[in-house]
Amino acid sequence: TAVQEWIAQVIKPEQNEKYKVDGNTFIDTAYINETLLAKRQPEKQEIREIIAKALDLYRLEPEDTAALLNCTDEDLWDEMYTAGLRIKEKVYGRRIVTFAPLYISNFCVNNCVYCGYRKSNEHIDRQQLNMDELRKEIKTLVNKGHKRLIMVYGEHPCSDVDYIAETIKVAYSTKVGNGEIRRVNVNAAPESIEDYHKLKEVGIGTFQVFQETYHPGVYKRLHPSGLKANYEWRLYSLHRAMEAGIDDVGIGALFGLYDWKFEVMGLLAHTIDLEKHFNGVGPHTISFPRLEPAVNTPFVEKTSYKIDDDTFKKLVTVLRLSVPYTGMILTARENAAVRQNVIPVGITQIDAGSNIGIGGYAREALDYNRQQFILGDNRSLDEAVRDLALMGRITSFCTADYRCGRTGSCFMGFAKEGKIHNLCMPNAILTFKEYLLDYASEETKKAGEPLIEQELAALPNQAVKARTEEYLKRIEAGERDLFF
Ligand code: SAM
Ligand code: SF4
Repeated sequence: TAVQEWIAQVIKPEQNEKYKVDGNTFIDTAYINETLLAKRQPEKQEIREIIAKALDLYRLEPEDTAALLNCTDEDLWDEMYTAGLRIKEKVYGRRIVTFAPLYISNFCVNNCVYCGYRKSNEHIDRQQLNMDELRKEIKTLVNKGHKRLIMVYGEHPCSDVDYIAETIKVAYSTKVGNGEIRRVNVNAAPESIEDYHKLKEVGIGTFQVFQETYHPGVYKRLHPSGLKANYEWRLYSLHRAMEAGIDDVGIGALFGLYDWKFEVMGLLAHTIDLEKHFNGVGPHTISFPRLEPAVNTPFVEKTSYKIDDDTFKKLVTVLRLSVPYTGMILTARENAAVRQNVIPVGITQIDAGSNIGIGGYAREALDYNRQQFILGDNRSLDEAVRDLALMGRITSFCTADYRCGRTGSCFMGFAKEGKIHNLCMPNAILTFKEYLLDYASEETKKAGEPLIEQELAALPNQAVKARTEEYLKRIEAGERDLFF
């Protein structure tokens, strides 16, 4: 059929070859299992040494991470939670970057057993936004105060790279009053190097592909057909993206498909292999979605690998300690209580006010038959911003790094040195101020204004502080988009 021909055209296995060693990928299941086994009873002293290494912002080695994963001492876990927060604040400051997911198309040729959008699911209303519908969605999001999007697509010839590129262009060019989308990230199917070049040209931010599970055998069972059945095409998708010059890439694993410790080791192996091939530049972000119920998707109830909230917090903490420089994304799959509990161990980004039904923002309706899965946190952006402010955290809508070319190795340089708060905290303050002036409710303003004063006072560099104060005055007088 036409779809099968299309699949044969898309996959170019030769583009992965140079990244493999003796024909093997960077995922060595035997090595991961042996390392986890060798570190099954870590000593207190060893855990403390690893925590100290992470606090000095060194990326951990697999042996270190395996030891942390196997820790059973709750007091040591408390030390790790505290360390997670300190690392995050050293590298990123007391700010949380916020974005909205925007689902564009749910046609899909694949049959991932856990996903509501899988081809064989007849209970899903299939829909793809045309450019007018897309503009409506963007306007609705801009009017709420959003500046950053992650646009999400099923894998299908109708949402090929040219369609994705066109939707990105529409997103950047749709302005409403003072507002506009300033960064578009994408979560879509793996592309070839040639196709990534097309996305680079239209100014894509981060390109995300989640491996779902790093275990090749489990992967095969859960992805029985379609393009996604090819484990290696997906495993090297972000190597190819970086080769094409997209220097911010986002990795992830879907927790609940297989053993959580194995997946954390897989994420670390992925990080190390990207660093190895791209001058020390690892993933820009790591995501750790947990499996959620989806319409007519019995797999989700049946899997025995689901993890509880406590384990979830632990795995996020181990990732924070293992890769201190990377951004960590906690989505609205998680309910508000889990999010409030896990954010302090080192989260840098959340989505807020999310609606994942296709066309759902303009319709202002929850429509489960158009959704990939069911969200846990249905707070509005305004409520989420207020709750973060009450936790002492500024919501940042900043997109300056990306627009000044501070991405990839340059960003890593800043982030690894722990200096980014000299740029990022001021930019967080400035974008937060814009949000409070243009979009926030009275209640949120009341919670947010004192934070601006507090963070301004905490800026270590006097010149930076003076310039931030000057910019704040200009923003109050009506200027917008001032940044460092
Ligand atoms: N279709 C593309 C793909 O699979 O790469 C991109 C978008 S897919 C809609 C985004 C992610 O949602 C997947 O990578 C997967 O990790 C996650 N996902 C799928 N089903 C899920 C479920 N039932 N609960 C939570 N997350 C899910
Ligand atoms: Fe399609 Fe992605 Fe869902 Fe798999 S996870 S069925 S590829 S939308």
